[in-house]
Amino acid sequence: MKYINKSFSIEKVKAQNLAKKFNTPIYCYSYKQLKVNINNFKKNFKYFSPLVCFAIKANTNVNLIREIKKLGLGADVVSIGEMMKALKAGINPKKIVFSGVGKTYAEISYAIDKKILLINAESKSEIIEIEKVAKSKNKIIDIGIRLNPNTDAKTLSQISTGKKENKFGVNKKTFFKLVEYSKNSKNIKLKCLSVHIGSQIVDHKPYEKMLKIVDEIIKKTNHKFQFIDLGGGMGISYDDNNKKLNYKKYSIAIKKILKNHNSKIIFEPGRAIVGNIGVLISKIIYIKENGKKDFIILDAAMNDLMRPALYGANHRIIPALKTSQVSKRIYEFVGPICESTDKFSTIKKFQKLKEKDLIVICDVGAYGMSLSSNYNVRPKPIEILIKGSKINIIKKRQKLIDLI
Ligand SMILES: *Cc1c(COP(=O)(O)O)cnc(C)c1O
Repeated sequence: MKYINKSFSIEKVKAQNLAKKFNTPIYCYSYKQLKVNINNFKKNFKYFSPLVCFAIKANTNVNLIREIKKLGLGADVVSIGEMMKALKAGINPKKIVFSGVGKTYAEISYAIDKKILLINAESKSEIIEIEKVAKSKNKIIDIGIRLNPNTDAKTLSQISTGKKENKFGVNKKTFFKLVEYSKNSKNIKLKCLSVHIGSQIVDHKPYEKMLKIVDEIIKKTNHKFQFIDLGGGMGISYDDNNKKLNYKKYSIAIKKILKNHNSKIIFEPGRAIVGNIGVLISKIIYIKENGKKDFIILDAAMNDLMRPALYGANHRIIPALKTSQVSKRIYEFVGPICESTDKFSTIKKFQKLKEKDLIVICDVGAYGMSLSSNYNVRPKPIEILIKGSKINIIKKRQKLIDLI
């Protein structure tokens, strides 16, 4: 994605032309960037050839998931709906892992019928439920147990999951007990230790800490884990001075613990695969002067992209058409929704904007469309996948009539 003759382009297609053709707002993804991300991920961890399961919740567009599948990834799902989408996209069940703290009987039953690779359990009650379902089907089911390693991921508190106060996984003491419990079960087989300490992690040190704990715990259990599922969380760069996770350093730390354990590594990256492949193209409806700043009122809002309102996340905003005129005003980019948190960003130095101009909100491929809603009875945007100069509509814009 770059400017071609001052016009922001996704591969060979100008954002401007897309807006003209399809109206706004538009979620637009680059296939080339997706391929780069996946190949780069695989390359950096190839030493131990992990099973890479894309975390479906980051982007649930089934046509996009199909492309991700074709590029060799499996899926990490957190609901029956996500499992259905992963299967519909053609992902091999033997490459699907099922995470989450509240899997229901029906979800477990479906997972067993579909013969997925692993159900990663997060509590004793859940293990008992899995046993119950397995017993009723007269089967032995492979499970993982998710450990809460009590490590600070050094990320936004709202997307931190590996500290003891978080609802995810079980603590060390419970983990040991559950390993023992599983050994005596007739209907489950403990195959995996799983962890996932949070999202948008840009420092490798929390991962090193997590790995040290995983290493110690496995040694203590004296159980052979066929898989170690390290979850996702790999952070990307959302702005120019924002660093991203150093894969090499993470990879070296993993290699170290693998000397002690003969296990297959599973990863569950979401954001790292799709975060930077997508932009949200939006049109300025009005510009409203207010003291020192102008409100730039966009046709995209928090219902389309919820991350800023939900966890104060910041997304770069850039003009669709570059000019050399700099505005003297402070711009506050907002949506039309009746909430004060419906605000994307405040920018001091931006190029001079006028009503009907187009802007581009960057890096929205992960947790963008998947977190969108119909709040204020606003239809969800169209989703487009660009391959070179080819425009593929991978999801139509919702029709107002379907919402009424
Ligand atoms: C959300 C989630 C992921 C993906 O997180 P990213 O930060 O997008 O990589 C992976 N595993 C589990 C269990 C999750 O809940």
